[in-house]
Amino acid sequence: MSENGSGSGSENVSAGRATVAVVGGGYGGAAVAKALDGGTDVVLIEPKDAFVHSAGALRALVRPDWAANMFFPYDRLLSRGRVLRERASSVDPGGVTLASGGRIDADYLVLATGSDYAFPAKTETDSSAEALRRLRVAYDELTGAERVLILGAGPVGLELAGEIRAVWPAKRIVIVDPAPEVLPGFLPEVRADLLRQLAALDIELRLGVRLDEQPPGEPGRAKTFTVPTTPVGDLTAGLTADLTADIWFRCHGVRVNGGYLGDGRLTLPTPKGQVRVTDTLNVTGPAGPYAHVYALGDLTDVAEAKMAGHAMRHADVVARNILAQARGERATATYLPSPVPSALLPLGPGGGVGQLPDTEGGAGGAVPVPAPRVAAYKGADLFVGRFAELFGTA
Ligand SMILES: Cc1cc2nc3c(=O)[nH]c(=O)nc-3n(C[C@H](O)[C@H](O)[C@H](O)COP(=O)(O)OP(=O)(O)OC[C@H]3O[C@@H](n4cnc5c(N)ncnc54)[C@H](O)[C@@H]3O)c2cc1C
Repeated sequence: MSENGSGSGSENVSAGRATVAVVGGGYGGAAVAKALDGGTDVVLIEPKDAFVHSAGALRALVRPDWAANMFFPYDRLLSRGRVLRERASSVDPGGVTLASGGRIDADYLVLATGSDYAFPAKTETDSSAEALRRLRVAYDELTGAERVLILGAGPVGLELAGEIRAVWPAKRIVIVDPAPEVLPGFLPEVRADLLRQLAALDIELRLGVRLDEQPPGEPGRAKTFTVPTTPVGDLTAGLTADLTADIWFRCHGVRVNGGYLGDGRLTLPTPKGQVRVTDTLNVTGPAGPYAHVYALGDLTDVAEAKMAGHAMRHADVVARNILAQARGERATATYLPSPVPSALLPLGPGGGVGQLPDTEGGAGGAVPVPAPRVAAYKGADLFVGRFAELFGTA
């Protein structure tokens, strides 16, 4: 079955149907498990008690009444397959070893363990009740803090600033980033619109500025502090004043979840911790690509911004390839990253900026998405309705 390693002899293979072990039930893992559920025997290995819709995390921080919307139970995701509440500790070409000591042998493997991010962007617990409790604690701390410092002017830092402003019109909000510009690679008019909206929301953006030291205390905990800042490189426009705030949040620094590959039994990750994949999303091992092992989403070295939308498109390609192979056909579906960066970046429920690939222009460019459409597509419900359908809770 496979060109490099095989799951033959698996005790989990039922007669005539291939077993697929999907490691990680985030955006990509849940989507591929669902797509394969009818045609194969799926085992989805995921330590969390519910799917975490990270795109809702920042609103969950500022709206305790809304926060539960970012969790979706797994129990109605699959009709034939099963979700195993476990963590993979090692993967080899024949299957998955679990942290509990158990073992899942499989004909096909899909690695979908994604990435972690600092709280509150991603939850640092496998329990949704505990995640909600931590969000509530941070909400209480934030409520009492007048001056908010956000480190990182990427989409997460910008969205967090917009969510805070939507709830607290009077707080002072400062975003600091050593980069010289926001949203590099995006259309100039999108970046200009973003700066205009931030100014209108009275959100102060200090680009080309680095903190000389990390703020004291934990992020998300109220404690007044002052930190010195320095301009980066030649950017004399950056303000050098000390910064005083009552609470801070770290909005940079993604960590890829590939620790279980550290034993090298399947593949050795890149220096960034990512997994090398081919254009059919097959994992490359020491002797070349495995025909029966796939990876998707933030875990992979696909050259594009790491986004849930991309992970779900990867899932579609992987599902088509595995279903073809299970029918005895060749895996021919491929994934090509778009050369055009795209994103919808709400600034609270009613504003924001975005750009999408220009599917009608034919020149392979991008088109800006105006604030009302960003709000209607995403800002209003942060795609909660779409995930309610996927998880059968609509
Ligand atoms: C605040 C925020 C907002 C975002 N908003 C958007 C957005 O609007 N649109 C967009 O496209 N992208 C957005 N993103 C990016 C998006 O969240 C990621 O790109 C996406 O989560 C990647 O999906 P994934 O399936 O690769 O992995 P993840 O969603 O990270 O899921 C990985 C899963 O694997 C599990 N796992 C980890 N280790 C193991 C293990 N050893 N064994 C078993 N399971 C394991 C984890 O518990 C997790 O459930 C946002 C990110 C953040 C932080």
